[in-house]
Amino acid sequence: MNSEFEMVVGLEVHIQLATRTKLFCSCLTDGFGSPANSRICPICTGQPGVLPVLNRAAVEMAFQAALALNCRLAAASVFARKNYFYPDLPKAYQISQYEKPFSTDGWLDLPAPGEARRRIRIHRIHLEEDAGKLLHAIGARKLDYSLIDFNRGGVPLIEVVSEADIRSSEEAFVYLKALKEIIQYIGVSRCDMEKGELRCDANVSVRPVGQAEFGTRAEIKNLNSVRAVKDALEYEYRRQTELLASGGRVIQETRLWDPQAGVTQLMRSKEGAADYRYFPDPDLPPLVADARWLEELKARIPELPAVRRERLVSQYGLSAQAAELLTSTRALADYFEAAAVGRPAAAAKTTANLIATELLARLNAEVLPLESSRIKASELGVLAARVEDGTLSSKGAKAAFVAMWEGGGSVAEVVLKLGLAQVSDELQLSVWVNDVLRVNPKAAADLKAGHERAVGSLVGEVMKISRGRANPVIVNRLIKESIKP
Ligand code: ADP
Ligand code: MG
Ligand code: ZN
Repeated sequence: MNSEFEMVVGLEVHIQLATRTKLFCSCLTDGFGSPANSRICPICTGQPGVLPVLNRAAVEMAFQAALALNCRLAAASVFARKNYFYPDLPKAYQISQYEKPFSTDGWLDLPAPGEARRRIRIHRIHLEEDAGKLLHAIGARKLDYSLIDFNRGGVPLIEVVSEADIRSSEEAFVYLKALKEIIQYIGVSRCDMEKGELRCDANVSVRPVGQAEFGTRAEIKNLNSVRAVKDALEYEYRRQTELLASGGRVIQETRLWDPQAGVTQLMRSKEGAADYRYFPDPDLPPLVADARWLEELKARIPELPAVRRERLVSQYGLSAQAAELLTSTRALADYFEAAAVGRPAAAAKTTANLIATELLARLNAEVLPLESSRIKASELGVLAARVEDGTLSSKGAKAAFVAMWEGGGSVAEVVLKLGLAQVSDELQLSVWVNDVLRVNPKAAADLKAGHERAVGSLVGEVMKISRGRANPVIVNRLIKESIKP
């Protein structure tokens, strides 16, 4: 970044709630990938004479998201009509919340291990319905007309509006990642950006370092990936600082990110709220939150990732990095805890290692979700325990993991079948040690001459002839003892 100008960013993030049905009708929300216009009814296509009925599950999810983001819940919120004419909006208005959103004044702490924590305030969260989708091309073929798919129209969204507290593209990236993680954790959205379940608009301005007021902002749309957000912010920062440096000024406008060209382009001058002619929707009563119901919702919020991360460190003695990895999804953290529960700290660490190295590598290689793991959490816990009690070397554990993954069976079964148990019997070990010393006279001589390095290579040889089963700690001691008079 230019040292004279500071980037100022506020994000508006739309998140599709994981309800079964739409916000005001009983159409299914699984329209993505379903035949076009197969998930529609008179309500979500705006036919005359119909009435919207609010989906209770959507409200519950929205409230839970707000609670997880430390927001205040309004005693009553009001649905408003946001009027604009565009073909993806069959009613010519979107039901949203305007003056009285259901929640305000929250915050999200960015994870910053070792550094001062950065808190991004959340200005408001409101509930609204999604619009339909316009199709201007089919595959590579550009159409000279547009098609409309209303499957998405009326699907429940929350819009999470941050304060303009973000100061770099990196921070925007971390904020989005943390937001997504929390929302996924509490299970109110899958946040799959490729399916449009999480969409982001970015408001960007720049100001001379040290200046208190904000500069004029541009609003960037069409940010379909976290990558796009980062690239667009960096581009926009450059555009605005260059404009200012050359004596120009930034105009408040809405710009579109073009990922191919890597530039933002003017879309329209910024519309003001007045353009939308907001007014309370007369078909929907105010949404009043019952105190008991709110308590119930609060109680149902699971432990959030940041808290869980700290607990994994203190309860299981994991490193911060291991805890970070294991809490990247709730399912993974659950898997780890199911494997580690009730076992000593050392086994928990080994469990974390096996997950990080063996399990995740396998799942990645086979593009499988965790739920499809061929090894159950409890069995992975047993595997770690066998490493801790010395039955298996780390190599043996890896071999057992592979055998279980590929052929099934319990730890006990594969250890027996493949003869993986680590040999700690000193008699057997010294037979191997003597064999190795005999066939490696040079290393043996180096050893006698006091070259410590020879020990390592001799241990390696013993591991080889024992097919990885020799207990390396004991072998190491026996080799050193072998040269003592
Ligand atoms: P609207 O998009 O409806 O005009 P708001 O005024 O609520 O909405 O602002 C939307 C977003 O823009 C918020 O995230 C806010 O923090 C951010 N924002 C407002 N002013 C600026 C600015 N000067 N620079 C960067 N972001 C800003
Ligand atoms: Mg906006
Ligand atoms: Zn419908």
